[in-house]
Amino acid sequence: MIPFIDIKRFEPGFLDEWNNKIAEMSANAAFIGGPEIASFEAELAKRNDVKYAVSCANGTDAIQLALRAAGVGRGDKVLLPNSTFWATFESVVNVGADPYTVDVNETDLQMDYDSFVKAAEEIKPKAALIVHLYGWGSARLNDFRRFCSDKNIMLIEDGAQAYGVKYKGESIYKNAFISTVSFYPAKVLGAAGDAGAVFTNDKDMADKIRMLSNHGRTSHYEYGLVGWNSRMDSFQAAFLNICMKHIDKRLESRRSAAEKYAAKLAGKVNVINPPEGYEQNGYCNVILLEPETRTKLIDFLKEKQIGFGIIYPGAMSDQSGAKEFIGGNFGNGRTGHVCNSVLSLPLFAYITDEEIDKVVSAVSEFFS
Ligand SMILES: *Cc1c(COP(=O)(O)O)cnc(C)c1O
Repeated sequence: MIPFIDIKRFEPGFLDEWNNKIAEMSANAAFIGGPEIASFEAELAKRNDVKYAVSCANGTDAIQLALRAAGVGRGDKVLLPNSTFWATFESVVNVGADPYTVDVNETDLQMDYDSFVKAAEEIKPKAALIVHLYGWGSARLNDFRRFCSDKNIMLIEDGAQAYGVKYKGESIYKNAFISTVSFYPAKVLGAAGDAGAVFTNDKDMADKIRMLSNHGRTSHYEYGLVGWNSRMDSFQAAFLNICMKHIDKRLESRRSAAEKYAAKLAGKVNVINPPEGYEQNGYCNVILLEPETRTKLIDFLKEKQIGFGIIYPGAMSDQSGAKEFIGGNFGNGRTGHVCNSVLSLPLFAYITDEEIDKVVSAVSEFFS
């Protein structure tokens, strides 16, 4: 059996180090704040070349903190891609704003730039959420950034899946106005539970994000803003600090696996490669198939006991929970077709060549 994802392949010595850390922190009751949080935030900021990294409880809160800090609230219009994880959509609603979706395109599978521009000109949104999916981002990322800056649209980048992605040789988070990341265990840099962070180079934004994530506090019993409790707990920071020692190797393993799939499957299936200018993080590989072919390939993979993922099976605008809130969808109407066509094969840090070869030969056998 080859799993779609296996997050138990820890490096030698990793679990011993973690177990010792738990024992030490428990004995000291070091549960909230403290040096593990401070050093994790410092390391995050340094590695991603951003001025401020603010830790928080999870990747969904990170988006909500970013929206709130950018002043997005009741009655504001926010554009977001029609194919993403539901948390992106929810975050807009949870801060009181009105979500409008934009279709994705079939080349990079990200929000379509031309459709976005048309939508922005029509509804004049206060903010936009762009999502960096699958281990890369939009081929037009710089255009999105420039357009939003020219039009005074607050651009927030949901980089939940994008840890380690490089755009034009730099961390994808570096030149964003505000970007977010998730440390959900199955993400590229995964915690031992829920955790997230917000990145920005803007000091006022960073201060506001930090305040909002800790009840809007100005001192322990004085409150300058209405926020909530979205602190990352110290155990998560401690676990992530240990992961940081191995993250380069994990990224290298993921990237090389993604590249092996792309090379070995080329000419057999439509493998989506990262657009020019990107170094992917190997979060997920994606192939596009005709929907009927996908159904048959899935049955074949099940028979062969090979895992797979469908990321994502449905458009935001088609979710029953969206009806009450969505202002509209813009674009070519192709998101549904993309959702019916995507398929991801097993990919995770330290997947072996033997495992990749087994997956590749199963797919090849199916198409032969
Ligand atoms: C995982 C994910 C989130 C949410 O992160 P959590 O830490 O699970 O709250 C948001 N957006 C995208 C694109 C994600 O993949």
